[in-house]
Amino acid sequence: MSYDSSNIFAKILRGEIPCKKVYEDDFALAFHDIQPQAPIHVLVIPKGPYVSYDDFIASADDVEIVGFYRAVTKVIGQLDITAGGYRLLSNAGVDAHQSVPHFHFHILAGKDLGAKLLA
Ligand code: AMP
Repeated sequence: MSYDSSNIFAKILRGEIPCKKVYEDDFALAFHDIQPQAPIHVLVIPKGPYVSYDDFIASADDVEIVGFYRAVTKVIGQLDITAGGYRLLSNAGVDAHQSVPHFHFHILAGKDLGAKLLA
């Protein structure tokens, strides 16, 4: 699947639509999900044009990959959720119901999230 630069996260990255920003650096932007599924529901996206986790790992260079993961970890620290716990997940493709075709992690926290899947 090729990257579609008209997706909503690409528009957020270009500043064409607003977001509730949590964190930003050279590699990543983090912002609150518009339809939160938990008291804390933050999305972290790489700045580059990657459709999914597998596309990101296959196509991004090592500096981008390390920078992105460090940014995710900074967001987790900034949210102060390590004591209570959190869930980090990424949907990819049809079966996972990925709705925005720009790679992103969901960070969910702030309540008992249940045993496994986010319904
Ligand atoms: P996924 O279904 O895994 O692709 O997740 C996409 C997420 O993006 C969903 O949880 C949506 O609620 C969220 N979302 C869609 N549009 C926006 C937006 N403009 N600002 C923040 N979050 C959004």
